Amino acid sequence: MTASSSMVDFNTGLLEFLHASPTPFHATKNIAAALLSKGFTPLYEGDSWELEQGKRYVVTRNDSSIIAFVYGKSPLLDSGIRMLGAHTDSPCLKVKPRAELNRRGYFQLGVEVYGGALLAPWYDRDLSMAGRVTYRDQSDQIASALVDFQRPIAVVPSLAIHLDREANNLRTINAQKDIVPLVLQLPTDETPLPDFRGLLHTELQKQQPQLAIKQVLDYEISLYDTQPPALIGLEQDFISSARLDNLLSCFIGLQALLEADDDVSSLLICTDHEEVGSASCCGAKGPMLQQFLERLVPDVDTRVRIIERSMMISADNAHGIHPNFMDKHDENHGPLLNRGPVIKVNANQRYATTSETSAFFRLLCEKADVPVQAFVARTDMGCGSTIGPVVASEVGVKTIDVGCPTFAMHSIRELAGTRDGWYLYKAAVEFFTYLKAPIALISR
Ligand code: ZN
Repeated sequence: MTASSSMVDFNTGLLEFLHASPTPFHATKNIAAALLSKGFTPLYEGDSWELEQGKRYVVTRNDSSIIAFVYGKSPLLDSGIRMLGAHTDSPCLKVKPRAELNRRGYFQLGVEVYGGALLAPWYDRDLSMAGRVTYRDQSDQIASALVDFQRPIAVVPSLAIHLDREANNLRTINAQKDIVPLVLQLPTDETPLPDFRGLLHTELQKQQPQLAIKQVLDYEISLYDTQPPALIGLEQDFISSARLDNLLSCFIGLQALLEADDDVSSLLICTDHEEVGSASCCGAKGPMLQQFLERLVPDVDTRVRIIERSMMISADNAHGIHPNFMDKHDENHGPLLNRGPVIKVNANQRYATTSETSAFFRLLCEKADVPVQAFVARTDMGCGSTIGPVVASEVGVKTIDVGCPTFAMHSIRELAGTRDGWYLYKAAVEFFTYLKAPIALISR
């Protein structure tokens, strides 16, 4: 296989993964399925574990965060653990618990905004819904299942410009009032509203007839755009899709981990709730990774020494310099699409990169023969953040924040370069196939 045809295969797989993963639950399920099909053994957090060197494991939490671990044959104390982190969630609209609204016979669903969504692009899209449904089964046990309506069943129509002549200059969006999706027109104003839980029950039972659902109790359902991801541009230079932030990095981490050698240990962690600060039982600020490491190495002294020999690559997209808005970047730090992964630096520790971890990543990129770029935010502007500083401060592992440059971050339709995912994947493969401990490259 040539390098370019491999990149084509990589992007084909990426588009499929993005399309099949409308929510963090679906992304986690798809990542787990890919790992299980390659010989990873499932672990359950409620079980007692006996982990064996030379084996591969996968464990999930809340159905929306996942750790995959390649337990290398060489002692952890010699080699440390090569870790790569990303997040499974993306900003979106989520259906409220009592969602049903009747306005002049239009059946609408009340929604909350999850994370820092760019709201304007949600107008005039053919939307569907997906997520997790929790129900009471026929023996009164609580169980959950994933649902995905797949077909377009909702829309948020724009207000016509004739009714708002200043729309192009002054329009703002009130999140409570202006973005309520429309799902059905009732025969009359007085027709009783359909029950949303009942609709979920019907849909889930249709999709999974084997489930013994007695009553849907609750749900975490979000809306998404049904337009499939696509390669676009005259020469297909770009990938256009929802959820590139951060399923692009999840896919890169997954594909790279599948290439990991079984000499040195490697770990992939993809967590939920990054877009709202990561503070949850399954978020990066929660104890999932720390508890995994404690169960792997119960002795504190040994564990701390292993972490000292380890390194984490935190992968999350970066802001490419936008040709229409060039002044939003520092003049020397405007990453270009298709020019390679971006090292993200912030003096105030919004990114966890240090001179040592970034130097290490530069060497990785050199070995992988891929270009690399650097980003710092303008000094007079705030800076985003990601799971890097969170994991670094929770676990104490040396961390670098990197990511593919993108446009339209947090839009319902984001844009990345066709080559950058492949480049970062190649650097990550280099990371997971290095025979030496990551930190061994940094002399003491
Ligand atoms: Zn992100």
